Amino acid sequence: MTIPNTIKAVFFDMDGVLYDSMPNHEYTWIHSLKEYGIDFPSEEAYMNEGRTGFSTIRIAFEKYLKRLPSPEEEEAVYALKTRLIAERPKAPILPMMQELIDFLRKEDIQVFVVTGSKQPSLVEKLNGHFGMQAGNIISGADVKQGKPHPEPYLIAWKRSGLPKENCLVVENAPMGVESAKAAGIYTLAVNTGKLNDEVLLNAGADGLFKDTVCLNKALCERVKKQSNG
Ligand code: CA
Repeated sequence: MTIPNTIKAVFFDMDGVLYDSMPNHEYTWIHSLKEYGIDFPSEEAYMNEGRTGFSTIRIAFEKYLKRLPSPEEEEAVYALKTRLIAERPKAPILPMMQELIDFLRKEDIQVFVVTGSKQPSLVEKLNGHFGMQAGNIISGADVKQGKPHPEPYLIAWKRSGLPKENCLVVENAPMGVESAKAAGIYTLAVNTGKLNDEVLLNAGADGLFKDTVCLNKALCERVKKQSNG
């Protein structure tokens, strides 16, 4: 897949792309699963990033306890993780992401956020920090099947009303890259986490940036070029 000739919509993942929130998720996964006798390695938090919370809990139980969690255990681990997250310091916005989203909007490019998160304050938070309208946010509550299934990015694509060749995804996690690529959309990875670049490239990323500053620079240059014809 080559980079779209004309970018008309960009679908951003949230955790690890807009916010430096993965250290909080890593910490809370490790500590909530520890209560159930699971030593969840830090790397696993990043490998499973993008899945729904319940799906991660099931995978952890199967892999480390060799059994499925009961529905009560699923609810309890998820509730504990949610409580621990609320106690963590607020995740900072990643460098240049507000500037990038402002720039894209000024260039009449549609901007969407596609996240597995279901936090009740999601719309309010994304509206306050990035001017996102509810219709441009696809959350965990909108999908039947979370990443790595293509459904979340297919919903964003349908809402954009554009051909796929005018769309672009920005992701930081292997499951997210797989989801976007399964949806048939060009995908740039930004490696803000702890995994090797190869993990993201092997998941199918069409390009990779080491941080959001490099991503912003490359995307702005690309869009300026297309608006100058
Ligand atoms: Ca992410």
